[in-house]
Amino acid sequence: MEFVDRERPEPAPDEALVEVDYAGLCGSDAGIYEFESAFERMALPTVIGHEYSGRIVEVGENVTKFAVGDRVVERPIRGCGDCYQCEIGESNVCQNAVITGVDHDGAYEQFVAVPEDALHPVPDAVDQQHAAMVEPTSIAARAVIENSRVTAGDRVLVEGPGPIGLLTAQIADAQGGEVLVSGVGQDAAYRLPLAEDLGFETLNVAEDDVEARREAITDGVGYDVVFDTTGHPSGLPAAVDEVRKGGQIVLIGQTGETTMPYSPLVRSEIDLQCSYASMYDDFDRSLRLIDSGDVDAETFIDDRFSLLDAEEAFEAFVAGETCKPVFDVSELYA
Ligand SMILES: [Zn+2]
Ligand SMILES: [Zn+2]
Repeated sequence: MEFVDRERPEPAPDEALVEVDYAGLCGSDAGIYEFESAFERMALPTVIGHEYSGRIVEVGENVTKFAVGDRVVERPIRGCGDCYQCEIGESNVCQNAVITGVDHDGAYEQFVAVPEDALHPVPDAVDQQHAAMVEPTSIAARAVIENSRVTAGDRVLVEGPGPIGLLTAQIADAQGGEVLVSGVGQDAAYRLPLAEDLGFETLNVAEDDVEARREAITDGVGYDVVFDTTGHPSGLPAAVDEVRKGGQIVLIGQTGETTMPYSPLVRSEIDLQCSYASMYDDFDRSLRLIDSGDVDAETFIDDRFSLLDAEEAFEAFVAGETCKPVFDVSELYA
């Protein structure tokens, strides 16, 4: 990972040129940094970063919905518009999806050229720095609002206090759930305390008695809904232990490979639901959740890091010493 000079992109007729203000660091960016995910499909060098807010500085001749000066965010997972899933309104699982910051240049630079169909307006009430976290919020919004059955009074366990976990927890809470957030040893330094700052009870599975907490919180029944945001092979088997009979597990994190007996899921009629990416509606709701404070951007965002020393932020992220670094990208060009 290094700084290189790039040409200022020319927007195509259907594109707008966006000057980036703020950009977040996502677990998938960290996966690329560690050569663990996505990087094998990348044509290097590629500028990473896909969670960002910016302003339109130029528009192509066919752009009709946006104008110079508009504040925008991008929906970075782009459906092709032509395949079967896109036709039936499931563009989040498009057969030919491309991802900003993976398949084409992303937001850790001054300018990005973006098709207007992938842009989303930022309402006046939402702060530009806060808007940079709309994309990860939309992932959690889809998982909770579209894909979970969390409702008032439900007892909810969110496994993993990373960015997606803590956003999932906040939205599940907004939807009426009684939410507990669990983490492992290295989460004790920053992420579990952050969960507590956000108003959640927490559980450190490396130190606390997980079973005793489940007994106490759920009267021995188990959680109504468990979200696995860990991205770790242990996340799903642990969710099976924690969920109640007839309950629901929502898988958001990409777990990799795990081996486990599935008969207990069948015998308990557990609903195993996956959630991937997000769509227009999820972005729209996320902007409103941030505006209302149901998602507390101020507490959640960590702006200690500089993009000029990005390695420090990536190392801290991998070590669990931060949760959602958001860079002031204007440092590159101010
Ligand atoms: Zn992301
Ligand atoms: Zn498609």
